[in-house]
Amino acid sequence: MINLILFGPPGSGKGTQAAKLVEKYSLIHISTGDLFRFEMSNNTPLGQQAKAYMAKGELVPDSVTIGMLRNKVEAHPEARGFIFDGFPRTIPQAEALDALLLEKKTTVSGLIALNVSDEEIVQRIKLRGKTSGRPDDNDEDIIRNRITVYKNETSPVYDYYARNGKSHTVNGTGSLLAIFRRLCKIINGF
Ligand code: ADP
Repeated sequence: MINLILFGPPGSGKGTQAAKLVEKYSLIHISTGDLFRFEMSNNTPLGQQAKAYMAKGELVPDSVTIGMLRNKVEAHPEARGFIFDGFPRTIPQAEALDALLLEKKTTVSGLIALNVSDEEIVQRIKLRGKTSGRPDDNDEDIIRNRITVYKNETSPVYDYYARNGKSHTVNGTGSLLAIFRRLCKIINGF
């Protein structure tokens, strides 16, 4: 089983690359951001809980996020593995993921961070905002807040998995195919 954490700041290309990787490796793609947006578009209680946090570029509380992630993993008992995109974003989320996978008698295979500079991220997200319709992509202050939250709350997750030698970094700039190849090279070593 391959359980990949696709890591990196907002706008680093995780969703784009995940879409290509799921095909190649027959994995299930779980994007917590997409899940929250789906819940919001259906105006569910979960969506209502997430909305205010997402609008400000803050993290949705761990209790809400972890429960949602667990449900999604448990909905796929047949899975050959998962790509976690946008999760874990805090140390408690990483600990919860490890515990969940242990219950399933599996483990995180590795984490790969896409490395992209802050300025490039801001430009990419603003461009994406023109078509994504996401309010959090259309306000520079919110974009910058998401980058700050990433540095303060999320980047420690890289160090958490680095302790077991599981963290990797690839250059997240260049053509989509070049980045894809960099990712595959690491995944093939899992
Ligand atoms: P991006 O990677 O561009 O920030 P995402 O779709 O991954 O976009 O996330 C959008 C928003 O959804 C985040 O800013 C946050 O509010 C919320 N979110 C997504 N994943 C998590 C998570 N694991 N924990 C807490 N909040 C999350």
